[in-house]
Amino acid sequence: MKLYPLFADLSGRPVLVVGGGVVGERKASSLLEAGARVTVGAPELNPTLRTWWEQGRISWRAGTFEDAWLDDIWLVVAATSDAVLHAHMAVLAEARRLFINVVDDAALSSFHVPAVVDRAPVTIAISSGGHAPMLARLLRERLELLIDPVMGPLASLLADMRSRIRTRLPDLAVRRRYYEHLLGGPVLSLLRRRQQALAEAAAERLLETAHTDPGGSVVLLGAGPGDPGLLTLRGLRALNEADVILHDRLVSAEVLALARRDAERIEVAKQAGNHHTTQAQIHALMLEHARAGRRVVRLKGGDPFVFGRGGEELEFLRGHGIAYEVVPGITAALACAAYAGIPLTHRDHAQSVRLVTAHCQGSIDTLDWQALAQERQTLAVYMGTSELPRLQQQLIAHGRAGTTPFAIIENGSRPEQRVITGSLSTLVERATGYDVCSPALLVIGEVAALAHTLAWFGRPPLGTALPVSSPKPEALTA
Ligand code: SAH
Repeated sequence: MKLYPLFADLSGRPVLVVGGGVVGERKASSLLEAGARVTVGAPELNPTLRTWWEQGRISWRAGTFEDAWLDDIWLVVAATSDAVLHAHMAVLAEARRLFINVVDDAALSSFHVPAVVDRAPVTIAISSGGHAPMLARLLRERLELLIDPVMGPLASLLADMRSRIRTRLPDLAVRRRYYEHLLGGPVLSLLRRRQQALAEAAAERLLETAHTDPGGSVVLLGAGPGDPGLLTLRGLRALNEADVILHDRLVSAEVLALARRDAERIEVAKQAGNHHTTQAQIHALMLEHARAGRRVVRLKGGDPFVFGRGGEELEFLRGHGIAYEVVPGITAALACAAYAGIPLTHRDHAQSVRLVTAHCQGSIDTLDWQALAQERQTLAVYMGTSELPRLQQQLIAHGRAGTTPFAIIENGSRPEQRVITGSLSTLVERATGYDVCSPALLVIGEVAALAHTLAWFGRPPLGTALPVSSPKPEALTA
């Protein structure tokens, strides 16, 4: 059986719900939301329905069902626990050409009530034709995550402009492009920021330029460290709206799999020491696709503003007048520490964290070693695998104790995650011994020793547990 989907305008129209229990209440509730004039027929009403009746929100036919209850109504819902009554009602409704929904009985129902994603005035209804209501509900949950809550405000904004849009953009293709631009462009992001007036102005401006402006934009998006569960909801939506995805190699396949199937995916591989695509080429690609009117997602591992050259890319886009948005991601330091059971700060061991990069000698030489070697702080070192000897030597030379714990987290948050621990004086030896590969994050500081007690993800740390020790200053124990 294939159902014909239908959105019914019930406002002010009488409908009948037979059944005064919790199911009847649920049905009455959504019918009331749609503005229907609801009559509930039942010998008794549950407390909520009774309150609604006392408030005059519903009418009540007290008693057991009579055929005449079906006079003058548009729809009927059978929500009692009496199967014989339900069958009788279905026959009567059929004879009167009245649509009936019999709760939990698809065969007796001539209309089904879908699972709904409500972004009024936008409504998405999902039905499994009564075959698998649970599946419909699960799909609804997924769509709830995907469909931006500002879709409702956007539709309301467009209601006021609709006739002007038609007059101004009679060409269907141009009009379609205009709407697409609204979905991906600055209007939506202004609505998200709750800047209604600016959003209206932007939509009007866009209407004036729609003939000439192709309307492309770029979302600079942080993909997180690998586990797709660490992507933000806004990030997921951006991936679903993208026409083109320019992604780094660091972005995991699982995250990419969440993107729209027909989006064009372009890997702009840029790994330390292996620059396949230069930064200038990435800039050129973003510009080319945005100027062609596409919604571009520039997808980066971790967070785009942490050692990700996100700033440079935005400066470039701004310089070329391309609209952009930034969606943060969970940076490697936070994710790796979390997935290795290492709290980056801890009242007893570390009061500050530094995010440091050490990917080549040039960047290493400009680091403030004096500051980095201080005790009671945690260093999270990005791109450090090739510079471990210098790191070890400089930190010790500037006074950090050789007994300071470290942890290297390789492939943090991914199924193949490895955590290697030890003390600073054995850093190079351990990393070499375990053949550490990129991507790997190095955590140095007293907190790293906690990996042995607090580990919860993947395999236990490789290395022997060091004592978690740190003298407690008076101020902190107070
Ligand atoms: N913008 C990214 C960092 C890019 S620099 C972020 O915010 O995370 C690349 C470095 O990040 C790698 O060399 C490594 O040190 C670290 N990194 C990124 N993902 C990682 C992961 N899953 N596990 C371990 N380290 C990771």
